[in-house]
Amino acid sequence: MRLRFSLLALSLTSVALPALADEINVYSHRQPELVQPLVDAFTAETGIAVNIAFVDKGMAERLVAEGDRSPADLVLTVDIARLQQIVDAGVTQAVQSDVLEANIPPTMRDTGDQWFGLTTRARIVYASKDRVATGEVTTYEDLADPKWQGRICIRSGLNDYNVALVAAMIAHHGEEATKTWLEGVKANLARKPEGGDRDQVKAIFAGQCDIGIGNTYYIGQMLADPDQKEAAESVRIVFPTFEGDGAHLNISGVAMTKAAPNKENALKFMEWLSSDEAQRIYAETNNEFPVKPGVAKSALVASWGEFTPDSKPLTEIAALRPTALKLIEEVNFDG
Ligand code: FE
Repeated sequence: MRLRFSLLALSLTSVALPALADEINVYSHRQPELVQPLVDAFTAETGIAVNIAFVDKGMAERLVAEGDRSPADLVLTVDIARLQQIVDAGVTQAVQSDVLEANIPPTMRDTGDQWFGLTTRARIVYASKDRVATGEVTTYEDLADPKWQGRICIRSGLNDYNVALVAAMIAHHGEEATKTWLEGVKANLARKPEGGDRDQVKAIFAGQCDIGIGNTYYIGQMLADPDQKEAAESVRIVFPTFEGDGAHLNISGVAMTKAAPNKENALKFMEWLSSDEAQRIYAETNNEFPVKPGVAKSALVASWGEFTPDSKPLTEIAALRPTALKLIEEVNFDG
């Protein structure tokens, strides 16, 4: 009883103390394991505490509902369309920063300074080392070729990563051609879409399919996990291109909320996330591609070789999200 009372007193004290000025609050859609090493390094350097609230779904809705009283200073999330949705909901503010401008290439940040990309990742093909020859798959368009019948695995078409890939296909070939492509890919599936990207690698390892579609960094996560290493080693990473262009990229990024109560410190964290040190942590802990030019990839990512990124602007891809969703539903991709 005494213990419970003192704990209560302690928590009331900590809420009432104004000495917590050097802290910021972040709503994160990103995995705790990934964000923690960044937060620890930043706090050690600056003394600014970073409170992370993991928000899985409904980030924009939550910020709208909280309005001016939102405790959040920053939003960390993946996928360009998701970032754009939060901006479109009117809950972010423009950030002018010479540091961010210097560190992040113009194509990786909003022209209105509302969002800033921090890492990129490619959506690529995992190919069975045993059953897929080198050079057998080279383009996204080719995934609709009947030669892949019964050989492809993929997660739900409605997943953000796949919606962005379909949106990029529309940017290249238009709506009609993309619908035909989706029907072709669906006809080639070995099973109905299910699981996450890692599950497609496991399915290839289990012999259920020969190729899967997924993000680059998941291979890094699997290789680091003794239970998944063998599956990851059974596949090769192939960077497909859109015909005549490059591999589909997406980003993770950050935005400052309109209500940010700790604006100054939040800006410090944003700028730090674009620094060499933070970009190196992103590269090493999650095998993503740093956005800051000159920061080295992890040894694993470098071993995958060079590739050409697709040239379609991310903002164009984000704007095509509703059309992509419509097509995915029209062809009943998951059904
Ligand atoms: Fe992911």
